[in-house]
Amino acid sequence: MDVATLTAHDCRDLLAGREVSAVELTRAYLDRIAQVDDVVQAYLAVDEAGALAAAAAVDAKPRDERLTWEGVPIGLKDILCVKGMETTCASRILKGYIPPYDATVIAKLRAAGLIFLGKLNMDEFAMGSSTENSAFKTTRNPWDPDRVPGGSSGGSAACVAAALAPWALGTDTGGSIRQPASLCGVVGLKPTYGAVSRYGLIAFASSLDQIGPLTHDVRDAAALLDLIAGRDPLDCTSTGLIEPAGPPEGDSLKGLRFGVIKEFTGEACDAGVRRTFDSAVKAIGTLGGVCEEVSLPSVERGIAAYYLIAPSEASSNLARFDGVRYGHRHAGSQDLNEMYVRTRSEGFGAEVKRRIMIGTHALSAGYYDAYYAQAQRTRTLIIQDFADAFDHFDFLISPTSPTVAFKIGERVADPLAMYCSDLCTIPVSLAALPAVSVPAGFSDGLPVGLQIIGPHFSERNLLSMAHAFEQHVQVGTVAPLRAGSAEVTP
Ligand code: GLN
Repeated sequence: MDVATLTAHDCRDLLAGREVSAVELTRAYLDRIAQVDDVVQAYLAVDEAGALAAAAAVDAKPRDERLTWEGVPIGLKDILCVKGMETTCASRILKGYIPPYDATVIAKLRAAGLIFLGKLNMDEFAMGSSTENSAFKTTRNPWDPDRVPGGSSGGSAACVAAALAPWALGTDTGGSIRQPASLCGVVGLKPTYGAVSRYGLIAFASSLDQIGPLTHDVRDAAALLDLIAGRDPLDCTSTGLIEPAGPPEGDSLKGLRFGVIKEFTGEACDAGVRRTFDSAVKAIGTLGGVCEEVSLPSVERGIAAYYLIAPSEASSNLARFDGVRYGHRHAGSQDLNEMYVRTRSEGFGAEVKRRIMIGTHALSAGYYDAYYAQAQRTRTLIIQDFADAFDHFDFLISPTSPTVAFKIGERVADPLAMYCSDLCTIPVSLAALPAVSVPAGFSDGLPVGLQIIGPHFSERNLLSMAHAFEQHVQVGTVAPLRAGSAEVTP
């Protein structure tokens, strides 16, 4: 069977109608991975045996009508702990680490009967915007294999765009779901901070990290969010505040007010992105929404504040990787200190080391107030700017990324250029708001995403709005791929 055009809802319907068995569906995805993934390189590990066994177990028992998603396959970012499945965060330091437990989101998906196809590539410890910081491989953008898929959830976005799973989970700290979704032309949702449990998500910056869906359409994103959201006693920052997103409804935006964020449009973006964004604004107008420019002056300091706060938290979170408990350990050290130093020097890549050094410096006694505390004060101003804007608008919009997918290698030598990839997403994360990137069109054949931001815990309305927009613009989300000489049709 050809899985290339299937959404997760399609998979569910085929299974419910007994048109296909869970094993047949899983096998079809595994076949497509075998056919296409040497071009895309989305997966770090494919669990063929585990996936087929789980699918066979689904087929072997009577179908439970309450388990709507039973038998539907999914791809998982390699930052999520899955019991018994190697979890590396794309880092040498975690090579060989097999978690003894499931992350809460994984336990929920397991209980719902989803089939785990494997672990997806990412920037090491989710630090990056191109997936080039993976210690193991570079994932390619399915729309143009010479270009990056974005990051850090680049494997997850490329996986969906290349139909190597009907949907995938990613994580977003400063843009890592939305930016790759935009660059690969799929839907990516970062939930409100606290909507989804972080238990079992290997921590990068704990005050920012959130898990969320990457999908072909908004309906799938809403369904996957409903599967993973909710209060979890194992994560005290999780809340039960979010209403089930339910199936998004409606095709009108009548009466809704949209603020176009001035600082993220105009000069900040490439001309092609701006053009596509301008037509998205027109489409919103056609659907009855009212768009008006709004200025959020503090967001221009978002990148500066984020690159102090996130590395500070990372420098503390990554202290646990010292060769004692997890993964890699340097062999042959003479004493404990040498073992720590050598393990960490060998185990971490350059970007991770850079962040640990920035964070350690920003938190050190003499500099704390000038750097870390100042960044936190800036974060408060950003939160306030968004709160003020939501007094006047129902949603805020911007391009998700200031550029389309860039060439592999183009930004690796220039960390600042790489950091600027997240200009439009980072301030939203600092304010803990939910935001979705929805395909809005193409510039020179490469996808452009529209970022829609809502007030805290407004996922239900946000996804309904995004659904109306998506139905109107009708942008294809599966890349036409060539494997060898044979065309693999979308
Ligand atoms: N690109 C940003 C960074 O490198 C965001 C990453 C993320 O959201 N995990 O930190």
